[in-house]
Amino acid sequence: MDGKTRVYGLIGDPVEHSLSPLIHNSIAEMFKENFVYVPLPVKKENLGEAIKGAYAFHFGGMNVTVPHKQAVMEYLCDIDEVAAQIGAVNTLLWTKDGYKGFNTDIIGLEKSFISDGFDVTGEEIIMLGAGGASRAVGILLARKNAKCIYILNRTLETAENLKADILKFYPDARIEVLGLDEYGRIPGFYQKKFNVIQATSVGLSDATKAPIYDDDFYEHVNFGYDLIYNPLETLFMKKVREKGGKAVNGIHMLLSQAVASYEIWREGAVNE
Ligand code: NAP
Repeated sequence: MDGKTRVYGLIGDPVEHSLSPLIHNSIAEMFKENFVYVPLPVKKENLGEAIKGAYAFHFGGMNVTVPHKQAVMEYLCDIDEVAAQIGAVNTLLWTKDGYKGFNTDIIGLEKSFISDGFDVTGEEIIMLGAGGASRAVGILLARKNAKCIYILNRTLETAENLKADILKFYPDARIEVLGLDEYGRIPGFYQKKFNVIQATSVGLSDATKAPIYDDDFYEHVNFGYDLIYNPLETLFMKKVREKGGKAVNGIHMLLSQAVASYEIWREGAVNE
């Protein structure tokens, strides 16, 4: 490090578990870039001050994680169009007017769908969850013309709100909302197999938990994509595999979103 080192970081609460510092510092080392990336734990009540401080210190950019991905938007000078559709930002870029917000989760998802062979175009997709990450998944599914998106969530109201938000931008999308235990109401469920995205936080750091336990459900999963990457095999993935389906975790999404953020910062630094 020297007087010209560019500083980047991850704001969230907690951030201690994150792999992002390891990923970004490794990329920088590989490309011999004068770049350092640090974890920055920030409590909800300090978010505005933290963004102002980072801008004043001329941090070149930041990643944003739980619980700030939506709240951070009010402190930005500009928001990329796709991030605005999703309603969440995970990457900030220093510009002369303030930080501009992007969402690279959707870029990471799209790339990993392709590399993992998870088909969505023209498919009936079941998505478990309707939280922040599900917003990126839902917008991507609509953009890629999924035939129908079944959003199954514990809280129906959150899922209905997500459905309404997706329809604002993609009015032709077909979206149905159900509870997590209502999969049997999906038309023809017991005659078909589905590609399923697990986007709830159930199973995070706990390989004994899954959002749905019934074997009945897993009999009808063709391909299960779990956004969680810790543990590397979740109970959801294990159950999919036990019933003969294919399953992957969210590690490729994580790596691809990190690379996409890095590229935004690199381009920003060149243009500054
Ligand atoms: P979030 O906004 O907190 O949403 C959590 C979701 O999980 C909601 O749908 C919530 O349902 C559901 N949920 C939580 N506890 C539940 C329970 N006990 N039973 C049933 N449903 C429950 O979180 P998020 O930001 O969307 O993140 C979701 C997961 O994606 C996390 O595990 C995160 O690690 C992972 N993720 C991975 C990547 C990657 O790069 N691979 C990127 C982003 C996120 P309610 O609406 O009913 O509360």
